[in-house]
Amino acid sequence: MDIEAFRKAGYQAVDAICDYYTKIREMPVNSTVEPGYLVKQLPDQAPEKGEDFSVIASDFQTKVLPGITHWQHPSFFAYFPSITNFESILADMYATSVSNPGFNWSCSPACTELEMVVMDWAAKLFGLDEKFHGQSGVGGGIILGSASEACLTVAVAARERCLRILVENQATNSGSKINGTVTGDSARGSGIMTGIDGARVKATQVVIPEDLRASSTSRMVMYGSTQTHSIGKKAAIILGMEFRALPTYRKDDYALRADVVREALTEDSKKGLIPFMLIATVGSTNTGTIDHIGDIGQVLKDFPTVFLHVDAAWAGVCMALPELRAKLQLDAINTYAHSFSTNFHKWGLVAFDATALWVRGRELLTSALDVTPAYLRTAQGDSGAVIDYRNWQLALGRRFRSLKVWFVLRSYGVEGYQRHLRGGLEMAEYLEKMIQGSPDFELLVPKSLALLVFRYHPQDREYTQTELNEINKKLHAALAARGDIILTQTVLPAENGEEGTFCIRFSLGNARTEKRDVEQGWDLVVRLAHEVAR
Ligand code: PLP
Repeated sequence: MDIEAFRKAGYQAVDAICDYYTKIREMPVNSTVEPGYLVKQLPDQAPEKGEDFSVIASDFQTKVLPGITHWQHPSFFAYFPSITNFESILADMYATSVSNPGFNWSCSPACTELEMVVMDWAAKLFGLDEKFHGQSGVGGGIILGSASEACLTVAVAARERCLRILVENQATNSGSKINGTVTGDSARGSGIMTGIDGARVKATQVVIPEDLRASSTSRMVMYGSTQTHSIGKKAAIILGMEFRALPTYRKDDYALRADVVREALTEDSKKGLIPFMLIATVGSTNTGTIDHIGDIGQVLKDFPTVFLHVDAAWAGVCMALPELRAKLQLDAINTYAHSFSTNFHKWGLVAFDATALWVRGRELLTSALDVTPAYLRTAQGDSGAVIDYRNWQLALGRRFRSLKVWFVLRSYGVEGYQRHLRGGLEMAEYLEKMIQGSPDFELLVPKSLALLVFRYHPQDREYTQTELNEINKKLHAALAARGDIILTQTVLPAENGEEGTFCIRFSLGNARTEKRDVEQGWDLVVRLAHEVAR
């Protein structure tokens, strides 16, 4: 495709995107195609000769779009929102136009520096402590592809941190000194590195003996709760470690309690296991639960090998609202968390993918992830004057994601960003009133931000838990069979010998959702529930 052909196809693509958004409300939200629908329509090898782009673009409309579930639709109430907007679309277009892997500052200085700037803007927008700001020279933020990637990345850092503490403890016990040549970013810098928790200290190398690494990593345990997203277990599996899901209870609205943490860590330490990381959640996927981070942080003071990661993939962006910061435990995060991550790409108005990860000590990442063969060295990196983001992440190359965050934050401004979040909260309050006014429905936990978790519970007679689960499974199946609404189900943990509770999540916050969509959605749920009961 030459420049003029691109100009033409580009204008047509913009027109097609505008038409899509003009008509989105009238479309079914849910794709109802059968498995294999697209495979059947496409040849089984790439074409021998290049095709005309107009044919390719038309196939997107006729073949691909029918298999798309419309996450931007006003009646998309499933999972959590994954919002895009025109600012993000344009940013992705510009970013792709200068496509480059930006792993070192020198690969494209603007990519690194824009990321540093927007991550500090966002840290301030969300009220994160200065220690998390890149400007501090100690901590800082990076944009990754997913909360899972953020979790795995910090888990690698947490493992190295834990090993360093073990070596230091051994040395203290045996009275020997640990020092030597510094490795990592700091080796090429001023001889100053940040300490375990981010404080600037004189560089000392902690050499981790291979036998200690081998004997310790197999005993390391990562902790979360039954409500922690699968990101925890997955990271532990990848690192060959155990993930222990601590119990949570309905009476606590499924929040992880500090006494449960203390008991587990004490028990495991006595067994010779090594607690190395705990994931606390702000806004769990099941119910929007917020763990008791302040109390947990207090407990962790007695377990210094434990790295505290706060996963706020969905709810974290709400820290942009000062009135919610206490509820979201911002002070505790600022006091105790080693790392904090939230997805701009959920409720945060930036198109998928853009996960923000902040660490209070950048050395936590660089000491674990800086591997610099000769071909990656640069004069600027060696001088220590720049950030080479490859040393903060698992992969080498990286997308130019900061552009879309920059476009969005500038175009909305703090006021517009807050207005968007408050809009979602308002919709959720509206729905909460409707649920509370429907006697045959119950909320299983109090509304959390823009998430409501409910089940149908007819009042005509006593129902067992098993019966209620069956009715609600049928209700969800009836909803899932339709194209005009999409809601996801979940199961809350079993308690008191009863089976877990099957329930339905109604997740708000999508930018296009209006009160009429919420009303229509709820009316449909009520009508189908009565049909199922009959
Ligand atoms: N953490 C929470 C609380 C989530 O709700 C989700 C996804 O919904 C994730 C983590 C995983 O996010 P990602 O897809 O970015 O890995």
